[in-house]
Amino acid sequence: MKLAIIEGDGIGREVIPAAVKVLDAFGLEFEFEKVPLELGYTRWEKTGTAMSSDDLETIKGCDAVLFGAVTTVPDPSYKSVLLTIRKELDLYANIRPVKPLPGITGVTGRNDFDFIIVRENAEGLYSGIEEIGSELSWTKRIITRKGSERIAEYACKLAKRRKNRLTIVHKSNVLKSDKLFLDICRQTAAAHGVEYEDTLVDSMAYSLMMHPERYDVVVTTNLFGDILSDMCAALVGSLGLVPSANIGDKYAFFEPVHGSAPDIAGKCVADPLAAILCVKMLLEWMKEARFRIIDEAIAHVLQQKIITPDLGGAASTMEVGNAVAEYVRRNL
Ligand code: ATP
Ligand code: MG
Repeated sequence: MKLAIIEGDGIGREVIPAAVKVLDAFGLEFEFEKVPLELGYTRWEKTGTAMSSDDLETIKGCDAVLFGAVTTVPDPSYKSVLLTIRKELDLYANIRPVKPLPGITGVTGRNDFDFIIVRENAEGLYSGIEEIGSELSWTKRIITRKGSERIAEYACKLAKRRKNRLTIVHKSNVLKSDKLFLDICRQTAAAHGVEYEDTLVDSMAYSLMMHPERYDVVVTTNLFGDILSDMCAALVGSLGLVPSANIGDKYAFFEPVHGSAPDIAGKCVADPLAAILCVKMLLEWMKEARFRIIDEAIAHVLQQKIITPDLGGAASTMEVGNAVAEYVRRNL
C-alpha cells in the first residue's frame, strides 16, 4: 500500500501533519509506504508549476492520496490540481459522511442524524464543455448511463451496509436530463433490494435542515451534491470537522472539506479533526478493521476539551493531533 501525502497550501500544511500522527499511531509502517509530494500554490511560487506530469505519474503509482488543500493559483492558464487528479484517477464518487461529533451541535442544534451524501463526481454540469461569450454563455450538462450506473451501484452497496435506505435527489421536472439519472438509480436500487425514494433538490435542501434524521444514503448529480454537501457541514457545526473521500475503481483520495483558509494559516489554530476523520475514511477503505477507534479517540479529546479555537478551546493543531494519536496508541 502506497499513500501519497499532499499537504498543499495554507492550513493543509498544519492539519495533514497532525492527521499523519494519528495514522502513524496505527503502526502500519511495514505494509505501508508514505510518498510526500509538494503541490499547489507554494510549489508554483517556487517553481512556476503547481503540479508536473511527473507528479501525476508518482500519484498514479500510489494506491491512495491524503490531501490537505490547495490555494487557487492566480494565473489564467492554471488548471486546478484537484480537478486534474480527480479526472486522471477517475474518482467518480464523492463521499461526504454527515454525522455529529459528541457534544458539538451545528446550526440546527440537533445531533440525531447520520447520513452519507454520494455525489457523482465526473460528469453533470462539471463536464467542462462550455462556451463563454459576452451575449451568451453555456455549459453542457452530461448525464450518461455508465456514469449514472456506477454511482448508483456505489450508493446501493453503501446503503446495504447501512440502513438499506436510498434517497435519489434530482430535478427531473425541469432538467429533463435528470430523468436518465433518476431511472437508473431507481432500477439499481430495485435490483439490489434497497428501499428508495426520490426528492427534488430544492425540497431536499429544506428537508435536510428540518429532518436530517430521515436520511441514510443520499445519491445525486455533481452540482447538487456539491451544494448540498457544503450546506450539511453546517449541520455538523464547522467546516473544520467534515471529511470527504473521492473514490474510483482503482484509487481513492481523501481530503477535508475545508480549503486552505489563508486567514488562519501559519497560526497553528486550524482544527485538524476533519483531516483526522479523513484518515479514518482511508483506513476503512483499506479494510483496516480498527478504523473505528478514531471516533472513540475524538470523543475522548472533545470530552477532555483538547480543542482548537473554532470549538472554543485553546489547543494547537498539533496538540489535538497528538492527543488523538496518543489515545489510539494506548487503546488499539
Ligand atoms: P480556499 O480558497 O483555499 O478554499 P477559503 O478562504 O475559502 O480558502 P476555507 O478553508 O474554505 O477558506 O474556509 C472558510 C473559513 O472557515 C476560513 O476563513 C476559516 O476561518 C474557517 N476554517 C476552515 N477550515 C478550518 C479549520 N480546519 N479549522 C478552523 N477554521 C477553519
Ligand atoms: Mg473555500
